[in-house]
Amino acid sequence: MQSKNKKAPTTLEREYIRLVALQPCSVCDEGGGEGAPSEVHEIVQGNWWLSTALCTGCHRGPVNGLHGQRRMWKLKKLDEQGALAITIRRVFLAARGA
Ligand SMILES: [Zn+2]
Ligand SMILES: [Zn+2]
Repeated sequence: MQSKNKKAPTTLEREYIRLVALQPCSVCDEGGGEGAPSEVHEIVQGNWWLSTALCTGCHRGPVNGLHGQRRMWKLKKLDEQGALAITIRRVFLAARGA
């Protein structure tokens, strides 16, 4: 995940990333919480504030994944910005105590 030319997240960013990972997948709504944390995808490489919570399938799956054929994304009519908006809404609700 951590590539060489990528800056390590700051303490504040790590806190945010953790909160993002606790949200269910922004595409298919699977997982989330301490038991099944989501993967964190950055819309813009290295900008952790543009992090999206995704399950393994919707992230890296060869058929459903963003880095694959994006079948689930098409089914849910979502692009990266749409999924990001869902993540931001959920993080906001979590941060204010739902
Ligand atoms: Zn998913
Ligand atoms: Zn990714």
